[in-house]
Amino acid sequence: MVQPNVIDERKLNALKVLASQSAQNAYAPYSRYKVGAAVLVEDGRIYGGCNIENAAYPSGICAERVAIFKAVEAGHRKIIALAVSTANGGSPCGACRQVMREFLDDDTPIFILNGVGELVEEMKFSDLLPRSFGPEDLQISA
Ligand SMILES: [Zn+2]
Repeated sequence: MVQPNVIDERKLNALKVLASQSAQNAYAPYSRYKVGAAVLVEDGRIYGGCNIENAAYPSGICAERVAIFKAVEAGHRKIIALAVSTANGGSPCGACRQVMREFLDDDTPIFILNGVGELVEEMKFSDLLPRSFGPEDLQISA
């Protein structure tokens, strides 16, 4: 298992760059709040996502979930780092935090970036969603 403190620095840089680039593809005509995200998986691949809004507002989806779902669709079940980019360095919403809970460990690093790709904050996942409900509560391993 790859520990966060031994993740290749080049991979983390690529993760942050993709999160920032993905924000440029956000479809956010209603909120105009563009978000990009990227997830790094165990084999070194990186998947990006952007928020995709909809005229029927609840049908839209956040960047973080797009990136996670793309990784899952490609067969991955373990995300070892996640980056999010917004203009103001905003934090992931509650729904995304719960989805992260399924595929990230408590110590998985989270990088919050601003609109020019600068690191605003770095934390571990358990800082983002402490005392969470997850697969263990149903006695199922992901
Ligand atoms: Zn969200």
